[in-house]
Amino acid sequence: MISAADSQPAAGQSDLVRQVAEIFSPNGILSKSPNFEFRPQQQAMAVAVARALEDRAHLAVEAGTGVGKSLAYLVPAILYALAHQKKAVVSTHTINLQEQLTQKDLPMLELILPRFQFTMLKGRANYLCTRRLQKAMQQSGNLFTSSEAAELQRIYEWSRSTRDGSLSDFEVEPDPKVWAMVCSERGLCSPKICGHQSDFAKENEVCFFQRARNRILSSDVLVLNHTLFFTLLGGLEEAFESGILFRNDFVIFDEAHQVENVASKHIGLSVSSGQVRYSLHRLWNPRTEKGLLTTLLQGPAVKLVGSLLQESDSFFAKVEEACEELARAAGAKSFGGGEAAAKRRREWTELRVRRPGLVPDNVTLPLQRLREAVGDCIKLSNDKDIGLELMECNRRLTELRDEVATFLQQDAPDNVYWVERAAKTRALSLNAAPIDVAAFLRQRLFGTQTSVIMTSATLSITNETPAAGSDASAKSSGSRRQPPAARAGDLSGLNYFVRRVGAESAVALQVGTPFDYERQMKLYVVRKMPDPRADDYRDALIHWIEHFVKQTHGKAFVLFTSFKLMLEVGELMQPFFDELGLACFVQGTGTPRSLMLEKFKEDVDSVLFGTDSFWRCPTSSLPACPLRSRTIPSSRPASKPSKPGAGIPSANIPCPKRSSSSARESAASSAPKPTAASSSCSITASSPNNMARRSWRRCPSARSRWYESKG
Ligand code: SF4
Repeated sequence: MISAADSQPAAGQSDLVRQVAEIFSPNGILSKSPNFEFRPQQQAMAVAVARALEDRAHLAVEAGTGVGKSLAYLVPAILYALAHQKKAVVSTHTINLQEQLTQKDLPMLELILPRFQFTMLKGRANYLCTRRLQKAMQQSGNLFTSSEAAELQRIYEWSRSTRDGSLSDFEVEPDPKVWAMVCSERGLCSPKICGHQSDFAKENEVCFFQRARNRILSSDVLVLNHTLFFTLLGGLEEAFESGILFRNDFVIFDEAHQVENVASKHIGLSVSSGQVRYSLHRLWNPRTEKGLLTTLLQGPAVKLVGSLLQESDSFFAKVEEACEELARAAGAKSFGGGEAAAKRRREWTELRVRRPGLVPDNVTLPLQRLREAVGDCIKLSNDKDIGLELMECNRRLTELRDEVATFLQQDAPDNVYWVERAAKTRALSLNAAPIDVAAFLRQRLFGTQTSVIMTSATLSITNETPAAGSDASAKSSGSRRQPPAARAGDLSGLNYFVRRVGAESAVALQVGTPFDYERQMKLYVVRKMPDPRADDYRDALIHWIEHFVKQTHGKAFVLFTSFKLMLEVGELMQPFFDELGLACFVQGTGTPRSLMLEKFKEDVDSVLFGTDSFWRCPTSSLPACPLRSRTIPSSRPASKPSKPGAGIPSANIPCPKRSSSSARESAASSAPKPTAASSSCSITASSPNNMARRSWRRCPSARSRWYESKG
């Protein structure tokens, strides 16, 4: 491991290291940018990244808020990629950060660095498959209801004018069921007969997916999200010797504190009642009498689909019943019996299942029978495209059968099994994931001959990150002040993170924040808040928001974890804002998120109420107002931790193992751009217990213990 001080360039360093140090120096090319401020922490991080790339080493960097992490890894990554004809794969957890990289940072670097190409990597299913579209149009009567056929027609018209043929180019996204029948799908894609240069492409519409693929292959920098990264990694049949997703690539994970969580979700299995129904309806939907089997007039297979739909409904109903029973037993243990105790028990949304054979298996055998019947249909079909679609359905049926069987038998070693229930739809999903993803990542990510760089503002579990102006930070900045010897090389806080992701071989670095929190911000903790489940919680919350908003005359960024509560509070507080003459923007009330943020930036006194996606706003996308405050009320999470990209980032909610750094992290997430005059306040209206309870659920390390407590 190296300490922050070691990351300064020294004589004998490579050209890349020197070049990078120079770029981030007070007089380097970045200094020509009007917003540039020399940050020694940023320079130290950039140099460490350059060195790791040159050495083909792995690096874990915890860099405090305001360091400018993205430029600190992008610059060395681009220069290294160009010099060695490699591909930099940059993975982030949130769409906000992807937007910042592709719309702000990379275009800015295009102006000052040697020529390079970048692109956003999206999943295949984001692109229209012109071949499937053509086929779906021909078979529209058999496959779609009249409203779906109208949606198909809309997709067709859009396909004639879209720029890139991807979902994000729609003004109003199409019906997912119809889109699923026309998007690019791996098992159905046949570039040899219909790729970019093929006769099919020439005769028909150009293939958007192949065009995107070519752009991806020729790009020097790819930006994608963690979910797609691990989906692609899991789908690779064999590992490359000198690359991870592509031959000759290297990987940078920003928001790396989410890597373990996302990886475990995508290495494990998840099968929902909706997925089973969707796969069966693709073959035959008894209500609409549409589906692939309609085209073949196959009575026996149709019958099997009908009975399997019923079996599947009864299977998931039994699972729910069994889970209710488990929840009742666990609740009685924690809260005792009686009505009052029952009231205190919240409806479960996730529940650990410990024993195999939770319910009798009445679906895997019918699934197998249906597979065989569909196999016969494939042999009988003389339409090649329908045959391919049926093969794809069969592949999915096999997956579903195996996943249900694995869940019921609990035969995957070292996995935890649990059931999730969607709060709104009450749809169930069966899940399994390894408790420890380190072994997989150690082999597939860190066992390759290429670099993996991981960075985040919150990777360590101790409170040892050097703060601005502290001795440790001074050391990292190369100042003449000397740090206390005990702290200088103590990066043990990162050991926990690197072990959890199997990156024990990584070099570790902590650089502090350029903010001086003690001078620049105030943190208020409202100690006497009612429990978020209590009836008077909402009124108490309104009281405190009013209290602080009055003190600062607006200028507040109010973050919620419950969407419902946010809307209620927003509505109830409207007269209060009207009286003060303040604009209050509430997420989810019609104004697009980006426009809301723009308005919030322009109107300095305004107040913004937001939920989870605003929790993850990169600091640089927020206004640099001297008195902007963040109020952080607490409530139930707005989104399920299971959903890719969902949940509260650990930057905002302390993991029990990170509890000592909670105040610091809370503060870090609220800080504006580092200017000498900046000050901000952060208000946390939550009992530490509530916060810890939520984070307990989200901390992958604590997963098994959380299930203990729930189960
Ligand atoms: S190459 Fe694949 S995505 Fe493109 S049109 Fe053909 S099947 Fe569709």
